[in-house]
Amino acid sequence: MSPIEILFTRAKLADGSLKDIGVSGGRIISIEPSSAEAPLAESVDLGGALVVPGFVEGHIHLDTSFFGDAWIPHKPCTNGFDVHERVAFQAQNMAQAAPMDVRARNQLDLCIANGSTQMRSHVMVDGSVGLKSLETVLAVREEYRDHIDIQLVAFPQSGILKSPGTPQLMDEAISMGADLVGGLDPASFDRDLEGHLDVVFGVAEKHGVDVDIHLHDGGTLGLFTIEQICARTRALSMQGHVAISHAYGLGDLGGDAAKRAAETIAASDVSIMTNAPGHHAFPPVALLRASGVTVFSGSDNIRDSWWPYGDGDMLGRAMMIGYRSGFYTDDELKAAFDIVTDSGAKALRLEGYGLKIGAKADFVTLKAEHVPEAVVAIPKERSVYKAGRLVARNGAVIRA
Ligand SMILES: [Zn+2]
Repeated sequence: MSPIEILFTRAKLADGSLKDIGVSGGRIISIEPSSAEAPLAESVDLGGALVVPGFVEGHIHLDTSFFGDAWIPHKPCTNGFDVHERVAFQAQNMAQAAPMDVRARNQLDLCIANGSTQMRSHVMVDGSVGLKSLETVLAVREEYRDHIDIQLVAFPQSGILKSPGTPQLMDEAISMGADLVGGLDPASFDRDLEGHLDVVFGVAEKHGVDVDIHLHDGGTLGLFTIEQICARTRALSMQGHVAISHAYGLGDLGGDAAKRAAETIAASDVSIMTNAPGHHAFPPVALLRASGVTVFSGSDNIRDSWWPYGDGDMLGRAMMIGYRSGFYTDDELKAAFDIVTDSGAKALRLEGYGLKIGAKADFVTLKAEHVPEAVVAIPKERSVYKAGRLVARNGAVIRA
């Protein structure tokens, strides 16, 4: 066994025990009861702070946020929520915003300072922007490789069939370094559910990559789309490799229909991402989890053309999920926390996640008695460690 390089002493784990965590080569190599003896290795005294795994920011848009840039007032849609119109507003706003790399860094700093050590970002790839946004975000990802692990989704924001050249661009995006294939409301946006899914799953199958589809469609259209995505997932043996983001339609279903949908999703091992959005119906988190569905979360939009909210704090997001889901008991609050940590890691298929021997030494210290209190109190005083190295403290990112 390699010797301990850094020993983190007096770490309070979720079970209340006080432990010393030994780290070597960026990984956890020992977790032992805290000892009163002076440590032999280089040590960091965590002082009994609650130590939890780094948060999983499972759905964000690094290319479209205006966080840290000039405030851009939100413009409402002409006749209620309309994805096409919002995409048009976004194009207008992006034309007058600060350069994309500057905005992406602003947003990454915000997320890292709040404790996210793992992220999945969607990046626009379509006939309007081509591969330019992806090139920019790929370069920024490289800059931040010691601070956060980032998966990128080739996201067809302008549709796949409606935006000429997009199927080829999605294919090239994966060759360039995007990790997943995205999609967007196959039926309502492209008005061709199967045609849209043919491209998404075709590119995924060709390159052997995972899928994460934005689905805002509600009601029976939303449910039908979910059923078709699940059927494809099973037909291609892609269980565990497909996610549906938002899936608002699940929130429109009544008791039995919701239960049947949850069973279909669980049987297909498709993950559901929800950010517990403000005024939308959203997936029944407790029912999905009880049925065996992996539910994960993300900030989604932060100060962009879609809404002005978002602070990049996944602990706050856990609170929001719990608040909107009516979670009160300790077990329910722990479930909300699980969504932004372990379940997020499962949905993203992260290697070496968690506070265990062999895992990456990615963790956050919190001023809280235990996890349920952390979820409701959202303490802002935090230290964030990536591969055993301090990368942020109390809201500020630390650079080597
Ligand atoms: Zn999104």
